[in-house]
Amino acid sequence: MEIAIIGGGAAGYFAAIHAAGKGRNVCIYEKSPKLLSKVKISGGGRCNVTHRPMEISKLVKNYPRGEKFLKRVFRHFDSTDTISWFESRNVPLKTEADGRVFPMSDSSSSIIGALMQEAQKLGVVVKTGWALESLIQESQKWNLRFSKENIGADVVILATGGHPKIDGYGFLKLLNHKILDPIPSLFTFNTPSEPIRELMGLSAPQVHVKLEGTKLSYQGPLLVTHWGVSGPAVLKLSAFGAQWLHDHDYEARAIINWNATFGEEDYRNSIQSFAAANPKKMLKNYPLFELPARLWMHFLEKSEIAEEAIYGNLSKKQLNRLVQNLFCYILTVKGKTTFKDEFVTAGGLDLSEVNPETMESKYHPNLYFAGEILNIDGITGGFNFQAAWSTGYLAGKSITHKNL
Ligand SMILES: Cc1cc2nc3c(=O)[nH]c(=O)nc-3n(C[C@H](O)[C@H](O)[C@H](O)COP(=O)(O)OP(=O)(O)OC[C@H]3O[C@@H](n4cnc5c(N)ncnc54)[C@H](O)[C@@H]3O)c2cc1C
Repeated sequence: MEIAIIGGGAAGYFAAIHAAGKGRNVCIYEKSPKLLSKVKISGGGRCNVTHRPMEISKLVKNYPRGEKFLKRVFRHFDSTDTISWFESRNVPLKTEADGRVFPMSDSSSSIIGALMQEAQKLGVVVKTGWALESLIQESQKWNLRFSKENIGADVVILATGGHPKIDGYGFLKLLNHKILDPIPSLFTFNTPSEPIRELMGLSAPQVHVKLEGTKLSYQGPLLVTHWGVSGPAVLKLSAFGAQWLHDHDYEARAIINWNATFGEEDYRNSIQSFAAANPKKMLKNYPLFELPARLWMHFLEKSEIAEEAIYGNLSKKQLNRLVQNLFCYILTVKGKTTFKDEFVTAGGLDLSEVNPETMESKYHPNLYFAGEILNIDGITGGFNFQAAWSTGYLAGKSITHKNL
């Protein structure tokens, strides 16, 4: 059986490794001169290979697109399997406090080494500089047209990754597969007109951010950057709100509660009881709610509370303004910035056209898909690679059950 795998990235390699063996000739065709290039640069060169294992029902919640589909895929291969796969190939892994899993070596080359060695051991052939241009099925065989020459194959796995433009999915359109417009996911919010940018570098540990006009809101650390705001809460919001934000031209209002453990009345009561116990203390010297002093000063200024003001003299109006700034601070968002070059595409091949038990096309027998070519994307934290390993594994394994 001739198996052509298109794309030498994480998903293509994993599919090739699991398809190889017993009379099956597996060849990876990669258009660029480089293999596994995204794995190499991923996680700042450390490769955040997956996330700490959790129940599948929780794991899938980290995917703004693909949740239902992945529920079935992960039953075959999930983050526990990823960890055992690499560890059993001499790549010890470590889990950081936030759940991200990295190779103990802190170098993506350990991951690349394991994938390449395994592929080589199983006799997978790898060809670089081969760009697929189109494919058609003729009497049970696939005919693939590359920039160099044409080849035939019994089975094809498309693992060409995500593309920022719909033209990148040209060969899928020719097969009449439905492509959902690619749009960016995982970005930080630009807030060009907001004075808070002057607090660049400052972070708050437990913030609740809501996107006005949607039901979307997330909790987590928030970081003030040169251009606006970033951090897990914002990134999560950008991923789940990717379509909405795209449709609104990245203009929105984000509503922030700076300490998610407090509600509006909790803030008011806490300030009042602190004031009653410490009437002579100056507000600027006693920030509350575990907020950084610079941020607290910013709130005092925004609430028109004088620098020398003491808790005992806080007027009702000032108290109200301070509570509003703490509980529902409004940030005007205008534009976005890519997160650490970690461009992830939302959009791609419509999942309703793929069998989630096999990764085979519902329209074209012997055509499979794996990785970011699919309309699947995860939030930051190792979830995108997990989807690539799982879909790659399933596509490869499904082929081994085929008798052609
Ligand atoms: C800077 C950066 C850092 C990241 N860090 C992380 C991280 O730490 N953890 C995480 O989970 N995710 C991370 N991601 C996301 C992750 O890299 C991707 O989700 C993952 O690489 C997708 O794998 P893939 O194999 O589907 O696609 P890709 O890795 O994009 O591989 C697709 C391959 O197909 C080739 N190709 C495309 N078209 C053709 C064609 N016509 N013919 C032949 N070959 C073709 C491409 O050249 C490419 O090599 C990061 C992404 C970026 C950009």
